[in-house]
Amino acid sequence: MRLRNLTFFGVMTLVYTLGCGPKESSKHPASRTSGGRDRGSSTCGFMQDDLGNMITMVPKISFLADKSFPEEFVPLIILAMNVWNEALEQEVFSYGGREDSFNLETRSQSGSPSEARSLLQWSEIWPEDENEKPAKAQTTALDQKIVRAVISFNAQDYSYSTSAKEGTMDFKSVLVHELGHVLGLEHSEKSDSVMGSTLSKGSRRDSLGKSDYENLACGLKK
Ligand SMILES: [Zn+2]
Repeated sequence: MRLRNLTFFGVMTLVYTLGCGPKESSKHPASRTSGGRDRGSSTCGFMQDDLGNMITMVPKISFLADKSFPEEFVPLIILAMNVWNEALEQEVFSYGGREDSFNLETRSQSGSPSEARSLLQWSEIWPEDENEKPAKAQTTALDQKIVRAVISFNAQDYSYSTSAKEGTMDFKSVLVHELGHVLGLEHSEKSDSVMGSTLSKGSRRDSLGKSDYENLACGLKK
């Protein structure tokens, strides 16, 4: 996990990758290198900037998916978003449909960070330096508010399934985790949390644990 922390006129870009367990997790249970936290302790499980201010999401983010996204996963996109929407009792995430990648590129790069669209990417080609992780979330924060996110699935090195099939990553579980990062949540070592830094193939972790609810109550819910 590499954390890129570019502070530039109040704009901060953070990249989280989800590891695949259990190999990494059992070998280095206390390792934070894949956790993306290099800047002191968190607030209610949420990220902080260099000054200790908590970083959270703007009230609502709508995602577009690129067209190469397999159809079978679309219903799960909405279900994964609903996990957080229901916990927060408001529609913080919504799904705006699929578009071809040319339009997405254009729309994601134009304008200010807050005007650019948030994306779900299905990556048939995964950058070599990303170390074959199953997925990553890149968020852009503007004055401590996450205004945009790009969630990428590594379709080059991993198979995904809708039902946690053996040898595959469970799509919904991965997306629930990545959406947690978009809310501003960091990795958690609590065993009941969807924010654990690794997820094993063939396993499901798609509903929030007690510690997740506690973090939301502490950090977001008014
Ligand atoms: Zn993660």
